[in-house]
Amino acid sequence: MMEISEIINHLGEDRETYFNSISPPIFQASNFCFPNVAKLRESLKKEFEVPFYTRGVNPTVEILRKKLAALEGAENSLIFGSGSAAMAAAIMSSVNQGDHVVCVQKPYSWTNKLLNEYLVRYGIETEMVDGTDIANFQKAIKPNTSLFVLESPNSLTYELQDLIEVAKLAKKHKIITVCDNSYSTPLFQQPIKMGIDMVVHSASKYISGHSDLVAGVLCGSNKKVASIFKSEYMTIGGIIGPQEAWLMIRGLRTFKLRVERSSQSAMQVLSFLENHDKIEKVFYPFSSSFPQLELAKKQMKGCGGMFSVLIKTSSMEGVEKFCDSLKLFLMACSWGGHESLLFPTCALLESQNYKNSELPWNMVRIYIGLEEPELLIEDLAQALNAISS
Ligand SMILES: *Cc1c(COP(=O)(O)O)cnc(C)c1O
Repeated sequence: MMEISEIINHLGEDRETYFNSISPPIFQASNFCFPNVAKLRESLKKEFEVPFYTRGVNPTVEILRKKLAALEGAENSLIFGSGSAAMAAAIMSSVNQGDHVVCVQKPYSWTNKLLNEYLVRYGIETEMVDGTDIANFQKAIKPNTSLFVLESPNSLTYELQDLIEVAKLAKKHKIITVCDNSYSTPLFQQPIKMGIDMVVHSASKYISGHSDLVAGVLCGSNKKVASIFKSEYMTIGGIIGPQEAWLMIRGLRTFKLRVERSSQSAMQVLSFLENHDKIEKVFYPFSSSFPQLELAKKQMKGCGGMFSVLIKTSSMEGVEKFCDSLKLFLMACSWGGHESLLFPTCALLESQNYKNSELPWNMVRIYIGLEEPELLIEDLAQALNAISS
């Protein structure tokens, strides 16, 4: 196993081939040429290993593939134009017409749409289970179950799956497993080492880390990645361009620093919020009140810098007042960048009947970026005080 700083700073970078430039070149090229027919013919046969056409192999993207596979402890990886494209490739590579999929409840919304709306058109049926109990996976297995879709933890209420146990069960029944690892990143959790077949990331979050691009990653064995390369990757073509790949390489240089800092600051902010009388509940895998704390500590080396809270107030106006009063937190979707963010679930609710909605109306998701935590706490304090309860 290569040490993480070596992966980030050196792995995959063949500096001698580009004038010993420390930063890699952006190979802004769609195609690559050959001196004679014999070489052209030879390269066509190795389209998956050598630069031929950028939908397949691009040298700037290749650097990223090596780094991300190594970070996850996987044999190989593919980089996609979004996390959703990576998840779609992982899922579509694992199902045939008439297959049955078991997916954890409350996955990322577009993963849910792919399974429960899009793939239904192709005769693929998905069962959503509460993944906090291994027995629910066991019960859901049918003779045609081909895939378990996992997300541990999810990015709103943070329910976990016992990855080692789910992987064991899946192997016993020859079921493929894919886990969305965006929240924990390979720094804090490496599902492949726990027996999971494929890991998917939204690299738009912590991996790129600067809120300036959308990208995805899929990690797995050489065999798996080669087969996805020749099928979903090349035919659907959801690739990343070399410019974005370069930005991702740059983002990765500070990956460990950023994720560690965001995590530490989040814990500091949480210890303030957990004791605040305007906070009804916090959702965070490493919080002492989290129902799966023991499992979290067992399978995660650390915990990301995002959590959710329930605001203690009598109406949606109170939540809106809190959110609108924050000055340092930007109101936006996504997370994992340098800047602190908030996203209230009430933005998704409109009806007069909001108190009966499945989604708690007083929930706010908070992501802690790289600002001074003391200032963030001050800002949260004044915004909580602004709520008249
Ligand atoms: C953002 C996100 C995705 C989707 O990734 P995109 O890069 O936006 O396509 C998937 N899973 C999780 C947990 C995410 O946060």
